[in-house]
Order: sequence, then C-alpha cells, then structure tokens
Amino acid sequence: MAHSATASSDEIWARALSQLRSHVSAATYEGFLRQTFIADYDGNTVVIGVPNAFARDWLERRHLGDIRDCLGVALGHPVEVLMEVFPVETGPVPSWLPPSSSASTPQGESEPSIGCPYDGFGASRLNPRYTFENFVVADCNRFAHAAAMQVAKAPGESYNPLFIHSKSGLGKTHLMQALGHLVHQRFPHAQVMYVSAEDFVNHMISAIRENTVDAFRARYRRVDVWLVDDIQFIAAIEGPASEEEFFHTFNTLYETNKQVVIASDAPPRSLRLMNERLRSRLEMGIVADLRCPDVETRVAILEKKAAAERIELSRDVLELVAKRIESNIRVLEGALTKICAYISLTDQMPSLAQVEELIADYSSAINESHVSMPEIVDAVAERLGVSPDDILGPKRHKELSWARQVAIYLCRELTDGSLAAIGHFFGGRDHSTVLHSYNKVAELLAEDRRVLFLINELKSQLTAQ
Ligand code: ADP
Ligand code: MG
Repeated sequence: MAHSATASSDEIWARALSQLRSHVSAATYEGFLRQTFIADYDGNTVVIGVPNAFARDWLERRHLGDIRDCLGVALGHPVEVLMEVFPVETGPVPSWLPPSSSASTPQGESEPSIGCPYDGFGASRLNPRYTFENFVVADCNRFAHAAAMQVAKAPGESYNPLFIHSKSGLGKTHLMQALGHLVHQRFPHAQVMYVSAEDFVNHMISAIRENTVDAFRARYRRVDVWLVDDIQFIAAIEGPASEEEFFHTFNTLYETNKQVVIASDAPPRSLRLMNERLRSRLEMGIVADLRCPDVETRVAILEKKAAAERIELSRDVLELVAKRIESNIRVLEGALTKICAYISLTDQMPSLAQVEELIADYSSAINESHVSMPEIVDAVAERLGVSPDDILGPKRHKELSWARQVAIYLCRELTDGSLAAIGHFFGGRDHSTVLHSYNKVAELLAEDRRVLFLINELKSQLTAQ
C-alpha cells in the first residue's frame, strides 16, 4: 500500500493546505479552502468536501491541478481529486471520526485512519428533503408509510426487516430516509446508516483487496438502524461473495435486534438470489409495496412540490401534468422543475398548450427504449463539440471530463449495462469512476437547470431514435 498508514486525513489536508496557500490568493484561501475537508479517500481518489456549489465550481475551475499536486505531495503518491458539496449544517460526520456514542465502539478496535481504504465508506448522507412531512400519503403507499412510521418509533422491535419494493421513482428512497430522519430525531444516539447495496459491495471489494475485512465488518455491525437501498444490485452481480457478506451482516444485526430496512425494485421472491435462506429471511418481517399514485395523488404531490418552490400553479396546469405523467414521481418532479424554470426565466405563466409542449419530452421519456452505449457517446460528443474517441480515451481536460461524465450518466440511465460493463466500454475505467461520474451528474441535475435541460434534451433525442 503506497499511501501513508498513519497520518490522519486532517493532518494530510493541513499539510496540503499549507502548500496550497502559496499557490492561491488570500481570498480563495480564506473564502473557500479553509472551509474544506477530506470527505473520503479510497487510496486513489480524494473527495474534498466543500461548503457549497459555488466554492466547488471556483476551486474546480481554477485550482484543481494545484490541489491534486499538493495532495500528491502530502500523500507521497499521485491521486485523483473530486469535489463534493457538503452543506455545513447537514454535512456528514467524516467517516473516520468516532461514532457519537463511544460505548458502541468495540474494544481494541481503532478508528480507521486515512491510510485505511475502509474509511472510504462513510454512510451516505440522508437527503434533508426526504422527510415524512414531505411525503404525500395516499392509498398507493399508505401501508408502507404506516410500517415505516412504526419502525421509526420502535426500531428493532417490530417489523424486522422492513422490506419496501416498487418500480423506480415511486418513493422507496424517500420513505426509507424519512424513517432514518425520524429515528435520528427520536434517538439522537442511534447509529443510522443509509447505504446503497452497490456501495456496500464496493466497500466490501476494497476491503477484500486491502485486507481490511475485519474492520469493514465491524463498522457495519455497529449500526443500530441499517437502511439498505436498491438491494437488487446484490442479486444482479455475479459471484456469491457479496450476497454472503450481506447475509452475514444482515443476520448479525437481526439477531442482536437491530433494525434492518431494505428497498428493492422487486419483491423478495423475484430477486435473483442464490441463497434461499436469505430470501426467506427477507420475507420474515414486513413486505410493503409502493404502487403508482392515482391522478389525485399526483396532483397533491405536485402541489406540495410547487409550494416548496414557492410557485403557484393553477389547478389546470397541475392536472394536465399529473394526467400526462402517470408512472414515475421522479419524472413528474422533473416536469414540474421545467415548468418552474420556464416561469422564472420568462416571468410569465405558461398557457396549457405551452405546458403541454414543455412536458412533451417527459411524457415520452417514460417509454423505455433500448439505446446503445456507442449511440450515447456519439450524441454527447456531437452536442458538446468533442470527439467520441476522446470521450473514451484517457485525456482529462475539463470539457472532455464533463462530456465523459454526461455520457456515463446516460449509459447508466438508458442502457442495462452494469457499472463494470460501462467502465469497460469507457476505456477500461473502474466501476467507482463510473459511479462517481454518475453521482456527479445526478447531483448537478438537481442544482443546475442548464444541466437538467442538457440531459433532458439528450435523453429525448436518444430515446426518440
Ligand atoms: P425510488 O427510490 O422508489 O426510485 P424516490 O424515493 O427516489 O423513488 O422518489 C422519487 C422522487 O419522488 C423523489 O424526489 C421523492 O421525493 C418523490 N416522491 C416519491 N413518493 C412521494 C410521495 N408520496 N410524496 C412526495 N414525494 C414523493
Ligand atoms: Mg431509490
């Protein structure tokens, strides 16, 4: 292992900062760099936590090279650098910090330092918007909502595990995180961990590679409420190792009366699991599904979202959107965002005909079509004015990296390719690079309307073919 096994990430970052100080203006240093920290480090890539999108853009555009160089010096080997926004008030506890209740740390086990790749797997943050208050309850989700509430009030006591399933975009992640928020409120010392099954597998793979499986297991098994999202990922990948590891973690938590909550795109019996015992364990608690909301519920959801955006839309507009987009709440929200963008850009309310036009792409985007990775790369290359070969090649300047990230995002959204298959297609990049690219675009999509329009345009162009 080339990287330092002893220095803490704070020390490493302090070292890098003291170097960086001579490369940047005092304003940049005081205004941006002083508020940053190392959020994650897996041995190859350092994720720098920055307080807001502005700081991230500023530092990325002007100082990424300097930051990479100084970190390389501080760590003693070259690294990749990514920036991620961690708003101060909701920022995660960096994963190398001890948990809030030290009593739950097994004796003799030291917290991972930056030298340990296992510190790369802090639980993901809960999205502050995904609360019970923001969740519209209706027939399509009443049972799952009630079960989630029950669990949050008495974790580990009833309904264990809680298994929530539905098609994409119907509220599994929202509900699961709402449960996490409520547990946090009621039991501030409880260790709540939200993790996608995909991250779980990635952490496991790096733990195996780096010989830190014991630390990996200990970290997971210290959790009081374990929220595991998109479990189908574990069933979909080849090889039994990740399924087994998941099964063991699940059993350990279950047997010590810790709460497990699982979200999946299919019910337990349809998951392609190799281990029958795991399947029956998954069915042992409560299995709740989320169905498509009816048109009234869709209107109510739109109303709530519009109110949150402080935009007043007429009932006609809400109904039109709710009628056109039936099967996916995420798409419904995308359409609403587009209408809100239209209003704030033009400062006028769209007519019904205009709304129809604005959301046409969204209504058609629901019909899934099969698009190939080369088609996606060609479309992105043409739209962003770069060459397809460069997207797939090793060059890393800003325009190319962005085009590559967009193409990777679309490959994941529009094709069935696994992370590994996408990485392979993109010049042999590994799955964590694919995941980072995907997450980066997904995050910008939520923040920056230009990105939303770009992706929307490319998607409808690709799916119309
Ligand atoms: P899934 O995990 O099932 O794919 P998500 O939880 O990500 O779906 O939900 C997609 C979007 O729809 C999110 O922005 C979420 O806030 C919203 N959403 C889903 N269900 C509801 C609901 N009942 N009330 C309000 N918003 C909802
Ligand atoms: Mg989800």
